[in-house]
Amino acid sequence: MTEVVLKVEDLAASYRKNTALYDVNLEVEAGSLTGIVGPNGAGKSTLLKTVLNLHPALTGKVEYFGKSFKKAKKRIGYVPQRGSVDWDFPTDALDVVTMGLYGQIGWLKRPSKSHREKAAEALEKMGMTAYAKRQISELSGGQQQRVFLARALVQDADLYFMDEPLAGVDAATERAIMNILKELKSSGKTVMVVHHDLQTVEDYFDHVLLLDRKVISHGLTEEVFTKQNIGKTYGGNMRWMGDES
Ligand code: ADP
Ligand code: MG
Repeated sequence: MTEVVLKVEDLAASYRKNTALYDVNLEVEAGSLTGIVGPNGAGKSTLLKTVLNLHPALTGKVEYFGKSFKKAKKRIGYVPQRGSVDWDFPTDALDVVTMGLYGQIGWLKRPSKSHREKAAEALEKMGMTAYAKRQISELSGGQQQRVFLARALVQDADLYFMDEPLAGVDAATERAIMNILKELKSSGKTVMVVHHDLQTVEDYFDHVLLLDRKVISHGLTEEVFTKQNIGKTYGGNMRWMGDES
């Protein structure tokens, strides 16, 4: 039997009085590459933040590798939605990647040579060596996303959450990121990716989680990603047109 790396029971979350998520039950298998798909405002980002203890849950229980979040934390990596990050503080690409290693370095210690080498290797893997000393705010959206991915890679986690890593990136970056995701999967890692492009879901992901404030369907892509389920997820609700303000 495959290991369950993430188990979510009866999870709910809100912002003040507005329910963003409810009734979420999930079991995610080791080695799966899952696309999390749903309309704007469906609670995709909230789901990631809530299971990662960055947003409080109203109800529910979350287990990683059969353990609490606190105990499993070092095995979990997170790439937040790009727009949600403040890029104004002065730091270069290599620093951002090195920050991914602080779990191993310890916040008060300085990174060693081998830490910096590890960070440089991850930048190289993402084709970003030439930009290592460039201020992060001076990189294009696609380049920033590559740096983010490099930072996640140095963490060497077993389970990754990524929030729309392909949003607004150029075709070359999209290919580079997808290659990394497939590589992570083939080395046995588990990856959950919020994804906005319905056209590429079947191509990119072996599992799909359809979300619209609750789980509409979750499982193997060929079983879950049907016209009927997609209709249930997007159909009959026009929230995505007006609810973002
Ligand atoms: P998605 O990532 O699927 O687009 P989100 O998880 O960002 O959806 O948002 C789910 C709902 O919660 C939306 O209605 C959104 O407006 C609301 N929401 C998200 N973040 C906040 C916040 N910080 N404060 C208040 N409401 C929020
Ligand atoms: Mg989002």
